[in-house]
Amino acid sequence: MKIKQGVFPHLPERLSGLEALSMNLWWSWHPAARMLFKTLDRQAWKESGHNPVKMLKEIPVEILASAAENPEYLHQYDLVMEQLNQNIHSAENYFSRSIVSNRKPVAFFSAEYGLHHSLPFYAGGLGFLAGDFVKECCDMKVPIVAIGFMYPEGYFRQRIRDDGWQENMDQALDRDAASISRVLKKEDGEHLAIKVPLIEPPIHVAVWRISIGCVSLYLMDTDIEMNDPWNRQMSAHLYIGDIEQRLRQEIVLGIGGSEILDTLGIRHSLLHLNEGHCAFALLERIRDRVQGGMNYEDAVQEVRATTIFTTHTPVAAGHEIFPFPMIEKYFRSYWPSLGLDRDSFLQLGIHPGEPHAGFNMTALALKLSAYHNGVSRRHQEVARQMWQSLWPDLPPENVPIDYVTNGIHVPTWIEPKMELLFNRYLGPQWLQEHDNPAVWDRIDEIPDKELWQTHYWLKMKLINAIRERARRRWLEDRTSTTTVLAMGAMLDPSILTIGFARRFATYKRAELILYNMERLKKLLKSRWRPIQIIFAGKAHPADDPGKRILQRVFNTARDPEMGGRIAFLEDYGEQFAQYLVHGVDVWLNNPLPPLEACGTSGMKAALNGVLHLSILDGWWVEGFNGKNGWAFGEGETGADRDGADAEALYQILEEKIIPLYYKVSSDGIPTEWVKMMKETIKSNASRFSARRMVKDYIEKFYLPALSKEEL
Ligand SMILES: *Cc1c(COP(=O)(O)O)cnc(C)c1O
Repeated sequence: MKIKQGVFPHLPERLSGLEALSMNLWWSWHPAARMLFKTLDRQAWKESGHNPVKMLKEIPVEILASAAENPEYLHQYDLVMEQLNQNIHSAENYFSRSIVSNRKPVAFFSAEYGLHHSLPFYAGGLGFLAGDFVKECCDMKVPIVAIGFMYPEGYFRQRIRDDGWQENMDQALDRDAASISRVLKKEDGEHLAIKVPLIEPPIHVAVWRISIGCVSLYLMDTDIEMNDPWNRQMSAHLYIGDIEQRLRQEIVLGIGGSEILDTLGIRHSLLHLNEGHCAFALLERIRDRVQGGMNYEDAVQEVRATTIFTTHTPVAAGHEIFPFPMIEKYFRSYWPSLGLDRDSFLQLGIHPGEPHAGFNMTALALKLSAYHNGVSRRHQEVARQMWQSLWPDLPPENVPIDYVTNGIHVPTWIEPKMELLFNRYLGPQWLQEHDNPAVWDRIDEIPDKELWQTHYWLKMKLINAIRERARRRWLEDRTSTTTVLAMGAMLDPSILTIGFARRFATYKRAELILYNMERLKKLLKSRWRPIQIIFAGKAHPADDPGKRILQRVFNTARDPEMGGRIAFLEDYGEQFAQYLVHGVDVWLNNPLPPLEACGTSGMKAALNGVLHLSILDGWWVEGFNGKNGWAFGEGETGADRDGADAEALYQILEEKIIPLYYKVSSDGIPTEWVKMMKETIKSNASRFSARRMVKDYIEKFYLPALSKEEL
């Protein structure tokens, strides 16, 4: 498989590796690699949106020529290139040291991937989970191949009107100025395109690749000339509102994705489905075997035994259900190829708990996989109840749904300054060994003052970035003064800062802290011990209730009565997620239990010493130990759940959090707060890492499934 050649014709020979580096997302979590781009031209780096391909295309040739003669630059360059090549070319993989040697890769399917802010292929947590998973497989050298979608317009760009209503701005990705490359045909060097099998009228997809160290992620693009306009637009956005287009997206993802593996000659051992959107891939695995002469039952047996399905949400709307007639329309010519008739085919997607609702993608995935899991211990309990009717003979506690608690890719989410501090006190190997809890015991050796100063610096960095944005918006749009206020122009780094950033789905209850405005105003405007709150997040374009909550939050932030102590950050994405989870003091999480399957942003915060204030749900049920943050919302709440939770939230703020933050020693350091920061890093960093997560998947599912595959 060739990669497009000569993307940067003016790159000096001595630095020719910068092309491969810029085209491999491995650069994004290696500070030394990022520095190779940044030090060329800081301004250009910033203006490119930290996109090395865009930057290298635009940068003057003299800058590159002078770097090619700078011994210090070349030294760094050689070190980085050697590391990258080691990851890509070393023959060892994770399995070569285990009982199963030199395996075919695991095929990992996901509708979204959150990898970096220059690649808009994500909407939220599910995407980052997939991105972090793939990056960790790269670090650990677990042989996987990933499949996903090219959404040229991503999810959407968010713009808040002066009246607080969310609008969408479209901004198409420039495919030729991003860390992605065309997959080319061997024969003629043309861009590879495949036809999705057995689907009429035909859909064609062009294939792109993102290299992530040694891992390849193949993306499907329907926006090509061969397709009619309806097909071209199908993949413009993630989670497109039109249900038929959504079904077509999922057909392309599952069936087209399998066809790509086939066309590329990639034989995979196991199939791992990240959420139900990609469940049609199971049908292709069965069809493959039936076409090879196996009978349907045996094919299903084999496919089940080698498939892992991860369900990610207890929210009903998160489980895709398609009307039967629509399924019939697209699969009429498909089911005969499995040896099935209409009824037995439709039966595959029936959830016995609601047999008339339609064709349920989660039910399909659960029926055709032997290994299934929720994404936290609490979510396992909830998922077992939710899907119990698929196993009518079993009590809920025996329903075969296991769990692997989510984790975050530590090199991606550790802030570089914090990383340097850890290098100094945890030893230079800490990052390589970060899933070893013993590494983190050494956190206590960091002097309080150094940890606090580092944190304070990150808070200033966050607030400077927010003020810079507000200023730009003012200069460009002459937006109203209250909007500039709402965008955080008056934030103050010395004040206790609470962050709340996530999708504005109603169950996340962004407005809980606004429940009693008089009480909140007292806290915001306290003369000696004030607090400030930073909100960010997008509502799904079709979710009007979510947009109304967002509007209320924004208009509260605009209210001069709040004194500029509430801010709303537009267009939340990976970049500001980084700033926020590094820089606030407290990370607030208050969804309606038990609807948060896991949550991962709080883990990112904890890794950087940001204290978690959360309802007891999702991962925090496992993470909270009584001294590493705060929990509320246990026990009886009565009919007024929001009222009770808001009361508990205010109480913790008033009685615990605010006094602790403002209790400073004579040298200006809140020593008890810093102690808690250390405790939160120590107790959460290794347990909620993607490395621990990937190891869990391997031990619980991959190895048992592989041992069956060998028989
Ligand atoms: C981590 C992350 C999420 C997921 O956060 P939750 O805690 O699951 O809500 C969503 N969006 C972005 C940009 C993230 O970085």
